[in-house]
Amino acid sequence: MNQLIHCINCSTIFLRTPFDRESEYEGERLNSPSEKGIEKDDFQDFLKSHRGHQLENLKIIEDSFVSEKPYSEPMKASYFKATNGRENFVIKKFRERIDEPLKYQLIRGDYSVKCTDLQIQTDAIRKQLDREFNPPLHESQIIAFLQLYQHIVKTLDVNDLERVSEESPYPLEIYYKMDDFSLMYLLRNCRSIFKGKAYSAMEDFIQRHKDEGVLLLKGIYKIEIVERLDSKREVAPPISLEKKRILEKA
Ligand SMILES: [Zn+2]
Repeated sequence: MNQLIHCINCSTIFLRTPFDRESEYEGERLNSPSEKGIEKDDFQDFLKSHRGHQLENLKIIEDSFVSEKPYSEPMKASYFKATNGRENFVIKKFRERIDEPLKYQLIRGDYSVKCTDLQIQTDAIRKQLDREFNPPLHESQIIAFLQLYQHIVKTLDVNDLERVSEESPYPLEIYYKMDDFSLMYLLRNCRSIFKGKAYSAMEDFIQRHKDEGVLLLKGIYKIEIVERLDSKREVAPPISLEKKRILEKA
């Protein structure tokens, strides 16, 4: 279990991993510059630089993890929520450079993940039409179809659509199926674009790709962070608080 330690005076965060604790039990014997030793030093450094400050444990809120880029991307920023029981926080986890360790930033506030756009896969549809239609469709027909599809999708609400269970490597892109009513509307309107055999071929194309192919709709999501305004902090920012305390002690 990881332990998340919050310095209230400095608004900083330290994530203590099981490595830190393990090395603690090994005590002074652990002098080698192994990973454990380095982790332990990090924690000791944290304690040293926050000596006399008010520290508290934060509890990580389960299933609150979101990432803005693919999970395999090392330079991504990701977020999770934590609480001290009275107040909730957002923890931003990020790297400033690829060769630097992860950093944690405390944000007083909350976040939500919102769908900002619902798109059709224009390029993928074009490529698939190219691949499957021989003789090829006229460019004017392709454009008319894409415009029709786009027009229908603009009227849809993402909350009414069925999500496709396939995991996207992009955590903020989620794929949806078109609903049956929109599907019927699409087919009906295709009759004015495609005639005869071309219509039948197009109908087959739509049936083939609506559930798992290029006709899936792509929902684009955004992480929206709302910072809480803390009036007390605005009046007395942490640095001046510190100075005040030092002056009082002197
Ligand atoms: Zn501190």
